[in-house]
Amino acid sequence: MREQLVFLLQLQQSETKVRELDTAATQLPAKLDPLRRDLAKLQGMLDAERAKLTEADTWRKTQQDLVDREREALRTAQSKLNASKNSKEFGAASREVENKRKSISDREAELKKINEAATAGNTQLASRDKDVGALRDQLAEGEAAMAGQLDALRTQLAEAKATRDDARSKVEPKWLKIFDSLTTKRGYAVAPVIKGVCQGCHMALPPQLNNILARMESIETCPRCGRLVYRKELLEPKPDEAAAPPAPTDDNDAPKS
Ligand SMILES: [Zn+2]
Repeated sequence: MREQLVFLLQLQQSETKVRELDTAATQLPAKLDPLRRDLAKLQGMLDAERAKLTEADTWRKTQQDLVDREREALRTAQSKLNASKNSKEFGAASREVENKRKSISDREAELKKINEAATAGNTQLASRDKDVGALRDQLAEGEAAMAGQLDALRTQLAEAKATRDDARSKVEPKWLKIFDSLTTKRGYAVAPVIKGVCQGCHMALPPQLNNILARMESIETCPRCGRLVYRKELLEPKPDEAAAPPAPTDDNDAPKS
């Protein structure tokens, strides 16, 4: 029985380790999620700005075409002015020249504004682009560093699982069944008894039960929490040699009615 208890303890310890490593390996990649979110947000802003600048550029080209056409019209109007034969023609041509000049001047002022805005926009875009690049580098570095950690964790996890499977194979099926059921219900199945008190639920065991435990001839359960119990001093003479059970939590230790 002593041997079975030792195996049960080993099983408990290795299962805890597997759970811890599994959680760590699952949670590790999520650590970079805030950085990924920042990057996606910045990239989105950058794309929107770039689209706006492209739109402004199209508008600018349209305006430039119009200016070119109006210059052409101005030249025609100037020719008419030069060719005017009387004051009526001269007056009409003068007004046309004047109108075209004004129109060109207005459009050029508008173009100047657009060009200034585009220059400012491009400068800002370049700076944002740099920020996004830096963030992307940071993420890549983080991922590279994490890949190493993750590999190490997975190796440890594989080792822990092998240890657990080995421990499981040594425990008799009837105890395995009880062990698994207790683990599901209580969080962990095997609890030490110190000075007659079950460390799983902190209840003082009946003295007779404590005496039975001292003989190590059977595996007994705590009358309150139902865990498999053993006298700590008999199985764990040195604290670093044997399994320490997980710290009991207060809320799931009460007996289920
Ligand atoms: Zn108990």
